[in-house]
Formats: sequence, C-alpha cells, structure tokens
Amino acid sequence: MDDCYETRLREFADGKRLGRLTNTVASGREDRCDACGSTQPRTLFGLKDGGSGRYYFVGQNCLAWLMDNGMVARARYRDKAASAYGREMELRRNGGPEGRAAMEIAPVRLDGHPQGPKVPSLRRVVLVVERNAEYRALVRLSDGQRSVSARAGESCWRWEWTRENGGAVLDRVWRPGRAMGASVLRAHRAALERWRRGAGPRRE
Ligand SMILES: [Zn+2]
Repeated sequence: MDDCYETRLREFADGKRLGRLTNTVASGREDRCDACGSTQPRTLFGLKDGGSGRYYFVGQNCLAWLMDNGMVARARYRDKAASAYGREMELRRNGGPEGRAAMEIAPVRLDGHPQGPKVPSLRRVVLVVERNAEYRALVRLSDGQRSVSARAGESCWRWEWTRENGGAVLDRVWRPGRAMGASVLRAHRAALERWRRGAGPRRE
C-alpha cells in the first residue's frame, strides 16, 4: 500500500471515534468509500463517529486497514447500516458539514442564473420514505411567501448488466442507495421546475 492511501485513511480517521455498525449496504453507482474515495466497493460497511454521531461508509479494504491500525473500535454500535445510510445521506443532501450529495442539488438556481439579491433563498424540506421496495421523496421549496412541492418515486430494484463468465447478463439488483438519491433528485428537479414556472416571466 502506498503512502498516499495510508495518509488518506489517517486523515479520514483523525479526530473521530469510529465504531462499526451492524449489517452492510449495497453500493450504488454514485457511492464512494468515505475513507479513500474509491467507487469500487460493491458493499459498504457502516461506521459511526461516537463524537459527532455522524455515519461513514467504507469499503472492505479500508475497513480492514482501519481496524488493523486500531482506528476502529472492536465493539459495534447497534445502529443498522441501512437505516443509518438513509439518515446520513439525507443529512448530506440537506447541506450537512460534509455534503457530498449536497453538491448535486444544493445551489438553488432559478432560470439558470446564480442566486442574486433579487431572488430570496429557498428553504428546502426533503422527506424520504421507503415503502414496498420503493423510495418516495417529497421536496418542498419555499421562500416564506410561496411554496411548491413535488414528489417522485424510485424502485430499489434495478435492471443492470453484470459480468458473468466473460459475458454479460441483465440482472435485477437491489440498489436502495441509488433509489433514494434518484428519488430526491427527481423530486427536487420537479419542484424547481414548478417554482420556475410560477415565478417570474416564462422563458419558453
Ligand atoms: Zn476505501
């Protein structure tokens, strides 16, 4: 292992009191290992920082390295990785201190112009529920006077090509992380579109 990798992991663990969660989560297309940034892991292991209460999700190699180097406690937290994942991703989406997902939707722009003094900043409320293997997101935007909302649903099951014996097969795979992110993004886009249509002159 190169120094760069170890430095990254040390920086990741620095100042955190990490412990494992129970179970794992299947990695979605946009998911990265929080420790090294790799998109490779198919399975993510949940970690909790006892100091901040925040959750992190790392691949198996990084988990092993962190444990070997005494950076993760032997004891486990009772929190289940899957529900912790849901809460953590929502926090990040709503502009938590380490917003990875927040980049996708955070800068609210109307008509493609950056938010200026004329446009009051929009308050966003995001609700996500899982029901019948589907994530349903509700996004509400408001500026204190007017509010619009939109919903979107995404199935946790997804058809994907996977490699098998040198060929490729179309397989139904369980992608709860992807479904959650996708449902919020779609609902957010729809809400913004409604906001844009209702606010100011039409551009079409
Ligand atoms: Zn990693």
